Amino acid sequence: MQTQNIFAASTHETGDTLKVSILAALRKFIGQRPGLDFANYGDAASYRAESRSITQDLNHAKTLLRKVETASGISGLNLIEATRGSRVKIETVRDWECNCGAKYSAPVKTGTTANLSGEATAWCPRCKARPVMGSAHRIRIDYTTGQYFPTEYRAAVARLCANALWDYIRESSMPSPVYFVEWQNERGEYVRANREPFKYQDAAEAQANLTRRIKEQEKAAFTTPPHGYGFTTIREAYKTPKGYISGGDWLRAYFVREFGRGIASRFFN
Ligand SMILES: [Zn+2]
Repeated sequence: MQTQNIFAASTHETGDTLKVSILAALRKFIGQRPGLDFANYGDAASYRAESRSITQDLNHAKTLLRKVETASGISGLNLIEATRGSRVKIETVRDWECNCGAKYSAPVKTGTTANLSGEATAWCPRCKARPVMGSAHRIRIDYTTGQYFPTEYRAAVARLCANALWDYIRESSMPSPVYFVEWQNERGEYVRANREPFKYQDAAEAQANLTRRIKEQEKAAFTTPPHGYGFTTIREAYKTPKGYISGGDWLRAYFVREFGRGIASRFFN
């Protein structure tokens, strides 16, 4: 594996100030108290169980945030991309003050009517004027609650981090895949036609060579196919000491080694 050094550099050394700001904002977000209302629980035991579970969410989120921080290849923009499909929203905003007395926050946008700084004017929502005082950029974390905020917000941050880590490891650390030819038997199951994989450059090359290879020199390697052998496919696989597995299984195994089964089964599945 080529995983050495990918978690070596600290975020501060990379100069990615967006990432530094996002991580600080996410840490503050998960650090807020869950605000459990005892009245919602039938008894002290169920209240305490819920409370413990939310504390576990906090520990999982902290562990994953720490890993994201030390992964020099994960940028601030990668973290924003990792919020796709998430209830967590990460935005760069400024706090504004208008002459009319209105105070408001607005996302920082660059647009076609941008001023000299390249930033679109955040017009006052009350009087429509140009605001007079603006704060520095800051990161705002928004969360859209599904069922119940206290049991969701910390796990949502953990999941966002897991998405970023999944993408990062998939792109930086996976070995080269190999390819199996598979045929579909009469029960509709795919069965490997070759015991050892073909080492094509990529799936496209494997596909291009498939028909010819089956007809020619590798035909002898196949056992006699069942009826319905006509339909074949190419399957990508990764070599491990335990055999050839799919890319998803390779990544899941990686994260079990990295974080243990508790975190892996929750956030990397
Ligand atoms: Zn105003």
